[in-house]
Amino acid sequence: MRGFERHGSNRRGHDSGGRGFRRDFGPREMHKAVCADCGQECEVPFKPTEGRPVYCKECFSKRRD
Ligand SMILES: [Zn+2]
Repeated sequence: MRGFERHGSNRRGHDSGGRGFRRDFGPREMHKAVCADCGQECEVPFKPTEGRPVYCKECFSKRRD
């Protein structure tokens, strides 16, 4: 009898949907800050340090390149 050998391709559908990178992306504590670049009020997931500029998401990613 042939066709008895399966190369594991039959094991699909048993994925529980996760890829193993389940981190805690739950609600984080957000802190209100004012972007030092565009002056927009924004929220950052860290506590803004006094004296250090805080950038909103857009400006932050802009400054990265
Ligand atoms: Zn900004």
